[in-house]
Parts: sequence; structure tokens; C-alpha cells
Amino acid sequence: MFGRAPQKSDNTRYYEILGVPKTASQDDLKKAYRKAAIKNHPDKGGDPEKFKELAQAYEVLSDPEKREIYDQYGEDALKEGMGGGGGAHDPFDIFQSFFGGSPFGGGSSRGQRQRRGEDVIHSVKVSLEDLYNGTSKKLSLSRSVICQKCKGKGSKSGASMTCASCQGSGMKVSIRQLGPGMIQQMQHPCNECKGTGEMINEKDRCPDCKGEKVVSEKKVLEVVVEKGMQHGQKITLRGEADEAPDTITGDIVFVIQQKEHPKLKRKGDDLFYEHTLSLTEALCGFQFVFNHLDSRQLLIKSNPGEVVKPDQYKAINDEGMPMYQRPFMKGKLYVHFTVDFPDSLAAEQCKALEAVLPPKPLSQMTDMELDECEETTLHDVNIEEEMRRKQAQAQEAYEEDGDFHGGAQRVQCAQQ
Ligand SMILES: [Zn+2]
Ligand SMILES: [Zn+2]
Repeated sequence: MFGRAPQKSDNTRYYEILGVPKTASQDDLKKAYRKAAIKNHPDKGGDPEKFKELAQAYEVLSDPEKREIYDQYGEDALKEGMGGGGGAHDPFDIFQSFFGGSPFGGGSSRGQRQRRGEDVIHSVKVSLEDLYNGTSKKLSLSRSVICQKCKGKGSKSGASMTCASCQGSGMKVSIRQLGPGMIQQMQHPCNECKGTGEMINEKDRCPDCKGEKVVSEKKVLEVVVEKGMQHGQKITLRGEADEAPDTITGDIVFVIQQKEHPKLKRKGDDLFYEHTLSLTEALCGFQFVFNHLDSRQLLIKSNPGEVVKPDQYKAINDEGMPMYQRPFMKGKLYVHFTVDFPDSLAAEQCKALEAVLPPKPLSQMTDMELDECEETTLHDVNIEEEMRRKQAQAQEAYEEDGDFHGGAQRVQCAQQ
């Protein structure tokens, strides 16, 4: 590394710039740099040359290896690259890495984080067929884009003035008297400049965007609905939302909304189908044609001799929904059976059935014993309806009882 003996050059200047003795500790150096860098920062009206010198001095002296080279051989040795990458860095980067952000509370024009625009959310209505087969939808949306004529400046000259109404802050504070000794301070965006903090002279306004910096544009976006996507699933188009100056454009997010299917329900990757059988079909076998979501016709039939009971489920493997991103895998198709019983039977029909069906259980009691029992009548009921009515009655009784806190709420409302 030290191929030739370097000339000894000035090795005290960096210490003088920072105003510390040659024996200064790392802590002393840090303190000295912090104080001087803030004082001389160009954003605060400091001398850029002095600021650069401070950064350079601190960069060298804060690195023990570089400091040793500097102490021994001086500034020129570092310039010749003996320190390994000893070249000067951006003084602002050194400043920023030292403070880890701006010490001026966001007032610095450097190192400021860019604002991110809002995401725009749209819902896309699709059918169950669309989710089974996959589809693409073209949607025409209007969005704001940066005006090309003024490159988003809003003015012909590129100049803008500080808004006089809010002094460029973009926000205004209003004070509201709520009551004796009670004041509410409210912050809201300045309406003169729409919260931007700047104004454009009327004569200087860009003719295309009228000083708005953005213009509206219609754009046709294609939303690809993949096989097996779910209700509520999001499709994100990055950076397609409204553009604004000095802003990272947000995303357009499409949320899939599945329309109800008249015959099929979906749960995850499975499909549920309701099918009603007549009593004869339930007992003696059935077959029917099921029209699938891709227009295939499936023949669904019972096994020979099989009896299907009311409320029974059966399933067909691999005829459910395709799985998202694995469309060759499919869920199940569940069939839920309802059996339609006849409302009444004639005496001969009963006789005929009794002849073929398993016999009724025999009564263990004698006629005499049965005569001593009390007669009853069975009424038809709609059990769900009756339970609902009983619950409503109970709720009403509870509310009338003063304990119900909903009553107190009603009183409060009346006072307002
Ligand atoms: Zn303003
Ligand atoms: Zn413009």
C-alpha cells in the first residue's frame, strides 16, 4: 500500500476547521461537528464552502484509519487515495447520516421524504362463471395526470408565489369559542391555495391545466380475473391512481365482488348445489343433468338400490371451483338433497305402501289400556315463525322494564 514515501503535507487544518485540538476524542469531534454543521447549513443561510469543509474534516477525523493517515502524512496522502476510498463524499449525505434525518424539523429541502398519493379502490362485479373460467374486464376510468404542457408546474414561466393567505404552509388555523373559557383550535387546509401553500399569478397560469398542474385523462384499464379468485380478493395496478406533483402515484385497487348465483353457492374452493327429489326418486333412484359453470353437462345419478334421506349431502370430487393459481386442482361439488314428501295419501295408497315397506312397530298396549289414555290433536306449526314471535315478545317485555339502557339513550337524544 505504501509504495512510495508520501510527502508530508498539512495535517492540522481539519482540526482547525472543527475547532478542536489534535488530541480531541471521538466525542469531542462529534460535538464540534454537530454544532458547526447546523450553524453553517446552506438551508439555514450558511456558507456552502464552509459546510463542505466541515463535512470533509469530520469524515476523515471520525474514521480512525483515515485519521491516522492524516496525522502522519497529511491531507494530500488521503487525496492520493491512501485511505481507501478517501475521496470526498457529498457533504449533505454526511450531514444526513450524522443526524439521521433533518435536524430542522422538516424545513430542509434536502432529504425530505416524498409524499405518497392515495390508492383508489374500485369494485369489480363478476359472476361465479367468471371466477370459474377466468376473464378479463376492460374498465374506462378517468384519472389526473401531470400536465405535459407545464410539466406539473401550473405556470407558463415555471414560477409560483407563496400563498399570502397561509404564508405557504398550506394550512390555516381557526379558533372557535365553545363556551366560557373554552376555545377549540382547528386546523384545515387553506382554501386559497387548496393546501399547496403556493399561488400562481393569473396571467402566468398554464392554459392547458389552468394552473391545476394536472389534467384529467380517460384510460382503459384491463383487469384480469384469474380462475379461482375469491370474493373480496384485490387486484392491484401499481402506480395507476391519480398523479400529482412531487408525489409517488398511488395504486388502483380492484376488489372482486361476486354476484349471487341463482343455483350455486361457493365456500372456499367448494360449490354447493341444492336439489329437490320427489319421494319416489329418494326411495327408488334418480338421475338429473347438472349444467356446470363452463357449460359442461354432468349426469348425476344415484347408485342402484340407494335411498336418499332428507337433508342428506353427497359430493362429486374435482367439480368444485378451480384453485387460485393452481387451476388444474379443483374443490368438491356438494349436492344437498331435499325430499319432497306428498302432503296426504289415500287409504288405498297406504295399503299398497304397507304391503311393500317394512311393517309398522306393533303397539305394546291392549285396547283396554289405550281406551284409558286421553285423546290429543296434532296441529301444524311453523316452528321458526313461532320461535321468532316468542323472542320478540320477550325483548319487548325487557325493554318496558326500566333497566334497559337503550331507554336512557333515548332520553339523551331528546335533550340535544
Ligand atoms: Zn394558502
Ligand atoms: Zn399545465
